[in-house]
Amino acid sequence: MTIKHLFFDLDRTLWDFDKNSFEELSYLYNKHRLHEKGISLPEEFIKIYKQINEKCWEQYRENLLSKDDLRVKRFYDTFLYFGIESESLSKQFGDDYVMNSPTRTCLIDGTIDLLEKLKPHYEMHIITNGFEEVQHIKLRNSNLSKYFTVVVTSEAAGAKKPSPIAFEYALEKAGANLEESIMIGDDLNTDIKGAIDLGMKAIYFNYHSIKHNYFPWKEVKYLSEIENILL
Ligand SMILES: [Mg+2]
Repeated sequence: MTIKHLFFDLDRTLWDFDKNSFEELSYLYNKHRLHEKGISLPEEFIKIYKQINEKCWEQYRENLLSKDDLRVKRFYDTFLYFGIESESLSKQFGDDYVMNSPTRTCLIDGTIDLLEKLKPHYEMHIITNGFEEVQHIKLRNSNLSKYFTVVVTSEAAGAKKPSPIAFEYALEKAGANLEESIMIGDDLNTDIKGAIDLGMKAIYFNYHSIKHNYFPWKEVKYLSEIENILL
């Protein structure tokens, strides 16, 4: 059967999460005058934040932490690491971060070029584990909305990738069959294992050349390679 539907992950596949996050955290570091609070460099602050944020997201994915708690706790724990114990600063910082970072517009190299080339040939959709209100802001601000027919967040699906429920929900919303669909994403577990377990073709966007034991349908290091596979 020919391929008709492409399901993309958003963060780190198209929207450059790391670059946008780094820019926003640097901005907030200055805005909240963290150097005066004893954190001498933004890079130092961001390095610790990223480690703590990863742990908090793990807990969120396992439903051990709510969305609201995640947003404050990741900053509360980071500040605590630097000897600052402040719920109000963590809350304010967390609110600023959630409000501002989705408006940033750095995309992974080759995003627009790829989507422009694929658009006449495929129906394209998003399946993302991000939050409903946040992901739509990212898509709008970085001019990506027009490329996608269906945008499914884990919040709307009621399940996070790699759960088959998230994929099945997206397929149903898009009116797509499993056999005529491909999942494209950067995360081995959520995107690739999730799709493979369901019997869906997957293209692994392995930007960091991570070694692994999965067998995706195809694997690329750059987005531009995807057009060679699909066109
Ligand atoms: Mg991703």
